[in-house]
Amino acid sequence: MVMQEVFEKLQSLQEVLSKKFEVQNDIAEIPKVLATKTELLNRMKKTFVDKSQEHRTKTQFVDELRKKSIEAEAAREKFEGQMDQIQTQREYEALDKEIKDSGEREQDLRRDLQKEEQLLGEMKVGLEKEEAMIHKQEEEVAKEQAKIKEALHDREKQLKSLEKKEKAITPGLDEEILFKFERIIRSKLGLGIVPIDHGVCNGCHMILTVQFVNEVRRGEGIMFCPYCSRILFYQDESEGELEMEEAAEEAQEEAEEGEDDEEAEESDEVEE
Ligand SMILES: [Zn+2]
Repeated sequence: MVMQEVFEKLQSLQEVLSKKFEVQNDIAEIPKVLATKTELLNRMKKTFVDKSQEHRTKTQFVDELRKKSIEAEAAREKFEGQMDQIQTQREYEALDKEIKDSGEREQDLRRDLQKEEQLLGEMKVGLEKEEAMIHKQEEEVAKEQAKIKEALHDREKQLKSLEKKEKAITPGLDEEILFKFERIIRSKLGLGIVPIDHGVCNGCHMILTVQFVNEVRRGEGIMFCPYCSRILFYQDESEGELEMEEAAEEAQEEAEEGEDDEEAEESDEVEE
């Protein structure tokens, strides 16, 4: 294969490969958006499970408290009922104390119960709110999943078409060079083959030695930039410029020769 043809192939391949790597990168990155949302959803669910457990424990505690306050009420009523059978002052005083004590206990329990029932109610409202938020987040995740599926499907299609193009270009190219070329494109943001511009690598802008530039110019083999590893080629345009430069140099030389003649004439004049 003629070098010019190889360079042209590599340039078309560069276009295909840089797009392909971009698409591959998308395929890897797109699902990551969902990961954050799924993580948030899982955290919300975990908190909800923990709080539901707390709510269950609290409900049991309140039920217990309600039972105790009903028992305390029954105890007070029982003591009150015994008042009719009282015969002595001593008995009266003892029973009166029982009634007072049980009444106090009943009141304490009822106060606690009221407080705990209120807390339980607040917990329930909080849980319902969280449950609604979880549903919303689940909907969002589902929506995102559908979007991702569509985007991935789209990228897979792009990838297949790019791979087809790649397969159409690569036959006839050296495998080792292809391997290096792919790696350069991956690491150098899509540029694997660049022209030499006025003795400078157009990829990394390092000045190349004249000997090296001449070697690339002869085009006898693939040459890699010693600084950035990109494949280098000699552009017709810069050749044209070089020809112009050479012409300019020649003109300069001629002019200098002319000056020498003049100087010679001048010295002749001085001699006269
Ligand atoms: Zn370079």
